[in-house]
Amino acid sequence: MSAENDTPRLETRNLVRHFDGRRVVDDVSLSIRAGQVTCLLGPSGCGKSTTLRMIAGVEMQDSGEIWVDGKLVCDTIFRVPPERREIGLMFQDFALFPHLSVADNVAFGLRQGSKAEKRARVEELLTRVHLIGHIDDYPHQLSGGEQQRVALARALAPRPKIMLMDEPFSGLDNRLRDGIRDETLALLKEENTAVLLVTHEPEEAMRMADEIALMRAGRIVQRGAPYNVYTRPADLAAVAFFSDTN
Ligand code: ADP
Ligand code: MG
Repeated sequence: MSAENDTPRLETRNLVRHFDGRRVVDDVSLSIRAGQVTCLLGPSGCGKSTTLRMIAGVEMQDSGEIWVDGKLVCDTIFRVPPERREIGLMFQDFALFPHLSVADNVAFGLRQGSKAEKRARVEELLTRVHLIGHIDDYPHQLSGGEQQRVALARALAPRPKIMLMDEPFSGLDNRLRDGIRDETLALLKEENTAVLLVTHEPEEAMRMADEIALMRAGRIVQRGAPYNVYTRPADLAAVAFFSDTN
């Protein structure tokens, strides 16, 4: 493996964030490689979204560093703006642009390339998420699951180095969720993206993660392959978390 491939796509070093004097994110260090899915898993309020928002660049850390592809993008003095971090985002309320067609939604973030190249990328992704037949439809004509797949295609269109996903499937019907999880995972792997997926559901982390980072009260208390974290929880609180929410 070359030295370049060895460089993590995303690295956070000792991220800290306070709100109202409370340490909401407490010394969070993560490292994610291309093609790897890391799930930041923990109960509601433990600091997952705040961590993700700092990486996205929409929230400032009090201390710590964020590196993308071996380059510093943010510390306490230096800050690359969110739109220049080559990061794709997907949230629960995925909010497609209602006045734009499916094709234009997916093309929205494509700044480089000719018109034909952009069109080819849009068609490639819509084919991949099985929505090519809806290319000229508008979001209101699609189901929730279909809209979510368009949102995924839109986020991946510019080939982001990193995908940040915050509970992206929690708005979906139970019956749809597993299928969309599997489809999403397959596409993320094909695109070789580094993924940080935030969830409070152990089941989702078990299904999607290469690595789980278990978070509690702002800290990462355990990390490892899903099977290892699940079968050998670090402490009683981790045992309780896995059994409570299942
Ligand atoms: P999670 O995503 O794990 O549910 P969050 O990162 O959203 O957790 O929130 C962690 C803690 O920080 C919570 O107690 C939340 O109330 C608090 N918090 C988050 N954002 C703010 C804010 N802008 N102002 C004050 N407190 C906040
Ligand atoms: Mg959250």
